[in-house]
Amino acid sequence: MPGTGRAEGPVHEALGALELVDHHCHGVAEGPLPAAEFEALLTEGDRWPDVSPFDTPAGVAVRRHCAPLLGLERHAPPADYLARRAELGPEEVNRRFLTASRTGVLCVDTGFGAERLTPPAALAGTAGARAYEVVRLEGVAEAVAARGVDAGGYGDAFRAAALDAVRAPGVVGVKSVAAYRTGFDLDPARPTDAEVVRAARRWLARGGRLDEPVLVRHLLWTAVDLGLPLQLHTGFGDADLRLHRADPSLLTDWLHRIAGTIPVLLLHCWPYQRQAAYLAAVFEQVHLDVGLTLHHVGPVRARAVLEEALEITPFRKLLYSSDAYGVAEFYTLGALAFRRGLGDLLQDRVDADELALSDALRLARWAGADNAHRVYRLPDGH
Ligand SMILES: [Zn+2]
Repeated sequence: MPGTGRAEGPVHEALGALELVDHHCHGVAEGPLPAAEFEALLTEGDRWPDVSPFDTPAGVAVRRHCAPLLGLERHAPPADYLARRAELGPEEVNRRFLTASRTGVLCVDTGFGAERLTPPAALAGTAGARAYEVVRLEGVAEAVAARGVDAGGYGDAFRAAALDAVRAPGVVGVKSVAAYRTGFDLDPARPTDAEVVRAARRWLARGGRLDEPVLVRHLLWTAVDLGLPLQLHTGFGDADLRLHRADPSLLTDWLHRIAGTIPVLLLHCWPYQRQAAYLAAVFEQVHLDVGLTLHHVGPVRARAVLEEALEITPFRKLLYSSDAYGVAEFYTLGALAFRRGLGDLLQDRVDADELALSDALRLARWAGADNAHRVYRLPDGH
């Protein structure tokens, strides 16, 4: 790859040719993005005076790797970048970045701000990919409350609504943002019906988003009953998060209790990729990705993060996701950072004779596509 200072080897070539399965991503903005909105989507932080989101690892990576796809020089200044983006228009910009990611399958989380973003089918059409859907369970619970339910009926109503939601065509998994709502230092036991009624009484009286610990536990156990793979946000996110409570190792007791049930996919993980790797090494059902970390650290550091994640993670347990949201650039950057980071680290092991080339090619294909096919039992799976 130009400018990396490192020669490409057969592992890079194989990853370059592989159509990725992006097992956790979101829609992109359908309409034009004014400069301020684009910049806000570049960062998990807020907008601060005199601190441009372009002056971050993600921002410089956009200028370096995305500008050429808009017909600009590498490292184009932010003003030129934004002007060219506006000139081309959202449809063309989204098409260029989504197709450049060479993604064959998208598993789309439709649970947050989805009304402003491209729906899965349209996203897949633009990318030339197939799309599946992942249902966010907190959204289901909040819709049940919004429709009106009494505390005694909440538990059954939520379970019925969740079952309904996952029976929709194209749904391959569910997701929880418990990390944001309560964190993972929860009682690992399944709550009793009486506990759920008492908690529902408190939550329904208070209103707002689902942040009642007993009901979050009930939600996680309902996910177990649904039988589909469960994605859990862990680690890095926006300021709404309390990072130390999003450490996936806090889930250890719960993971013991649900052993032998559903696959659990730990999303993002940074800076807890080593904790996540430990869990993937000792619990059959645990898998992980490094998700949005890929574009936030940029292609130069993606290898380091992937390398930590892979120190002890069984190779069957690492998946690719872009966690792209709002701006299509992150589809390109995530895919680039993944292919380069994984390609570099596997190729080096082959060159040092620590790994056979045939094994490296197999592990690359597993992480980039086959592990997701296997976990989600995708209809067109390998
Ligand atoms: Zn996400």
